[in-house]
Amino acid sequence: MSVDQRGFKTLIQAEGEEFLGQDLKRILFNSTVSVIKHSSNGVQVTLANGAKLRADYAICTFSLGVLQHDDVRFSPALPLWKREAIHSMTMGVFTKIFLQFPHKFWFDSEMGLYADRERGRYAVWQSLDHEDFFPGSGLIFVTVTGSFSKRIESLPDAVVKGEVLSVLQSMYPNVTIPAPLDFYFHRWHSDPLFRGSYSNWPANFLPEHSANLRANIHERLWFAGEATSKKYFGFLHGAYYEGEAIGLAVAECIQGGGCVGLEHTEQVKNASPYDLF
Ligand SMILES: Cc1cc2nc3c(=O)[nH]c(=O)nc-3n(C[C@H](O)[C@H](O)[C@H](O)COP(=O)(O)OP(=O)(O)OC[C@H]3O[C@@H](n4cnc5c(N)ncnc54)[C@H](O)[C@@H]3O)c2cc1C
Repeated sequence: MSVDQRGFKTLIQAEGEEFLGQDLKRILFNSTVSVIKHSSNGVQVTLANGAKLRADYAICTFSLGVLQHDDVRFSPALPLWKREAIHSMTMGVFTKIFLQFPHKFWFDSEMGLYADRERGRYAVWQSLDHEDFFPGSGLIFVTVTGSFSKRIESLPDAVVKGEVLSVLQSMYPNVTIPAPLDFYFHRWHSDPLFRGSYSNWPANFLPEHSANLRANIHERLWFAGEATSKKYFGFLHGAYYEGEAIGLAVAECIQGGGCVGLEHTEQVKNASPYDLF
């Protein structure tokens, strides 16, 4: 576990500096895309504030969850093979619920497991008040996933906090549990900029769908992100390598004055073996 206080953004900012320098005007922060118009001539993006951006090429890196919702409208609508690919994968939800107490009263190891009669109910606990992380911090977090995550996202913070505290009380029946100083969890599934935590392949997933999710449209509109990675979907490094690979492919298109792009399967019919390398 990385507890580097600079956060992941440091990696991205350091890489960005290599080509942006201090010229941050080339990045539009806090800008939400609402419409992406695409044709064989280029791409026009409309932002929520009405501003329009035009480009010969665009790389779309919204999460799979965002593509599965109507948060961003494509005009014309994406072809059927692309929409089928988008809906062939699922978006997993992984929720970390953080609590800070005035002092530590729990296990000394990194992890603790709690078994409830209800599957997935506040089961996996991790202590940050640990010599390798933040000793003396009074921090602990519990992870919930899937449908249990969706359930708690629909509840007010106070209700979730009450449930978490009651589980801790049953884990430590002889301890007077102090009131937490702080409590936080992010609602990844409800967040319109994420719509889940990361993508996953369902049991009936076909490799052609993965290729179709990654394939470009009209040579002009490209897709990247963790979900398009056949080898590392779901992971940060999947997103990183996909951004790099698709960025290089688009650079070749620009330098070559056009390109065919990635192949897609018009109609996915049956399972076939796939090669990861
Ligand atoms: C709780 C949690 C724990 C995780 N743990 C791990 C782990 O241990 N290891 C690991 O490798 N990965 C982990 N992941 C997964 C990892 O964070 C993702 O795989 C990675 O962030 C995906 O990167 P991405 O660029 O493909 O997508 P995202 O990070 O989703 O980036 C997409 C960007 O698009 C932006 N966006 C969306 N819609 C719009 C719009 N309409 N207009 C403008 N911008 C928009 C979003 O704000 C976002 O910045 C975890 C994720 C979560 C939530």
